[in-house]
Amino acid sequence: MLGGAKEITLGVMGGGQLGRMFVHAAQRMGFFTAVLDPDPHSPAGRVSHHHIQTSYTDPDGLARLAQVAQAITTEFENVPAPALATLAHSRPVAPAAASVAIAQDRAAEKAHFVRCGVPCAPYAVIETAEQLAAVPASLLPGILKTARMGYDGKGQARVRTHDELVQAWSAMQMVPCVLEKMLPLQLECSVIVARGSDGSCVNLPLQRNLHRDGILAVTEVYAGNVPEALEARAIAAAKSIAQGLDYVGVLCVEFFVLDEADPAAAGLGGLVVNEMAPRPHNSGHYSMDACDVSQFELQVRTLAHLPLVQPRQHSPAIMLNLLGDIWPEDGSGGVPPWNDVLALPGTHLHLYGKLKASRGRKMGHLNITGPSIEAVRSTALQAAQILG
Ligand code: ADP
Ligand code: MG
Repeated sequence: MLGGAKEITLGVMGGGQLGRMFVHAAQRMGFFTAVLDPDPHSPAGRVSHHHIQTSYTDPDGLARLAQVAQAITTEFENVPAPALATLAHSRPVAPAAASVAIAQDRAAEKAHFVRCGVPCAPYAVIETAEQLAAVPASLLPGILKTARMGYDGKGQARVRTHDELVQAWSAMQMVPCVLEKMLPLQLECSVIVARGSDGSCVNLPLQRNLHRDGILAVTEVYAGNVPEALEARAIAAAKSIAQGLDYVGVLCVEFFVLDEADPAAAGLGGLVVNEMAPRPHNSGHYSMDACDVSQFELQVRTLAHLPLVQPRQHSPAIMLNLLGDIWPEDGSGGVPPWNDVLALPGTHLHLYGKLKASRGRKMGHLNITGPSIEAVRSTALQAAQILG
């Protein structure tokens, strides 16, 4: 079936870097690819066999995608769920519109976590003035988050008092929100699972994540990065969240590990789920160079009904996100000193082909592998110093 005379085309909604890495993985395995993204310069559109340049809701664009692709996935969670539902009339779509719709809405997402018996931060849904007035003091200090469209720390406000909460909700135009209790975090981590339509489910190892200004900065993955029992609990929780959705595709679940010495963590069991993404995730990029199956190959396999085998990490790894901030700002069109970075052992550069660098924009990532986590850390430190 693969690489034979019969062309099989896999489609993806969205042309960002995640779509680009999906396209690369699919093409390496002999598939043809189709991307729907209105931007003519989209990172995935530029490397795909087919690039349909319409809006995500354009009936003609969706019809063309369904015509050319035999199965369709998505690379960003804010793809309009009805567009996925439309595509599903004529083609298999994974993940399903219903799963994506839940991941798009923090209130629905948290309700799903509760249904699966996986603890999350204590929270309240705020959609009306009555709900705002009824918020219990036990949720303060807290973080007010818009229910929809938040990412990279956007659409959030930290509030200490009820007055601040009222002001913050008003500043957010009183859109539906959730208020979460502020928890004492010891560390943040994530687990990526891939689930097939036959219910088989595999996972990548637990990733430890460091955020800067609300954006993922560094991911570290090596055996023993958290106690084994904690890793096992997080993996089991991620799998039950996927199973509860009857999910097909790659799913990333983010967790907080709590500082249990702090009274604010009382009764939560030390590990709570934060949020999920119905797609490959920035924190899984290390798998491209450190695992025998990457998260993007897993996405291809789930979409093409290929067997899912448990991935094996063959090297400790650190991923450094490369944001536009490190590109020269002098208008020279210059680039960071890649030659110096690539002279370090075990460095793997991934650039997304974006034409313009800007502050906070994800331009690429650097995966670092090595014989031990100490060696990888030392290389990462040198790379970070070179990149400034
Ligand atoms: P986003 O969708 O922008 O990634 P998150 O809900 O993951 O939003 O929040 C962004 C970051 O804010 C988290 O990675 C974490 O560092 C911090 N954060 C979010 N919720 C809480 C919480 N309840 N308690 C403490 N820190 C939090
Ligand atoms: Mg997050």
